[in-house]
Amino acid sequence: MSEIKKNIDIIQERIIQAANFATKNSDQIHLLAVSKTKPAKAIREAFQCGIINFGENYLQEALQKQLELSDISIVWHFIGPIQSNKTKDIAESFQWVHSVDRLKIAERLNNQRPTNLPPLQICIQVNISDESSKSGCTPNQLIELAKAIQLLPNLTLRGLMAIPKPTDSIEQQHQAFAQLRQLKESINQQLNLSLDTLSMGMSDDLEIAIEEGATIVRIGTAIFGERSYSV
Ligand SMILES: *Cc1c(COP(=O)(O)O)cnc(C)c1O
Repeated sequence: MSEIKKNIDIIQERIIQAANFATKNSDQIHLLAVSKTKPAKAIREAFQCGIINFGENYLQEALQKQLELSDISIVWHFIGPIQSNKTKDIAESFQWVHSVDRLKIAERLNNQRPTNLPPLQICIQVNISDESSKSGCTPNQLIELAKAIQLLPNLTLRGLMAIPKPTDSIEQQHQAFAQLRQLKESINQQLNLSLDTLSMGMSDDLEIAIEEGATIVRIGTAIFGERSYSV
């Protein structure tokens, strides 16, 4: 069995175990394979193992791989930081964007989303525990941003995404994910919405994220192996 196939089996088992432990239905937890820095060949192999959702962080790299993989029906998720000059390509070439953190970017994605495509599925990235990071809106900005995005016709607001600051403390990991869940609940209540997505949990902390309500876990290293470089 290939390494990727073996890894996917292990991850799927981890998801099922974590869901059982949290008394949640594992069908409601989606595996997003994060393929940044990995070749198209590795993505194709994971696809052949039944994975259909793939996450990319770097636009040029992603577009190149999309070309090489245009013969298979992958659902592409953009999960990296977004600069204004990248929104057109993102709006045209992805089905999901997890990393929207300001209105200007949301408006550009909305205006540039081709009208023959379904609305772009959006998560707002929230900066929950890492004040030094520039990615993500603050919890205070969240309600206004959600309210505005929700009015954009070519976007569908689905939920929230976060990358908590790495920590060895299990308790702090729980706290960060729980905070994102509470923020989603409070938006739903205050804006009368039914956001259904919490994009949280990576290779090292997916169990804790699932316990706290993750509906999409974003897994790179545990599927494709260590990244030899970061771009
Ligand atoms: C790289 C990355 C991941 C995957 O991280 P691993 O620890 O390799 O599983 C998940 N989410 C985002 C936003 C990433 O950039």
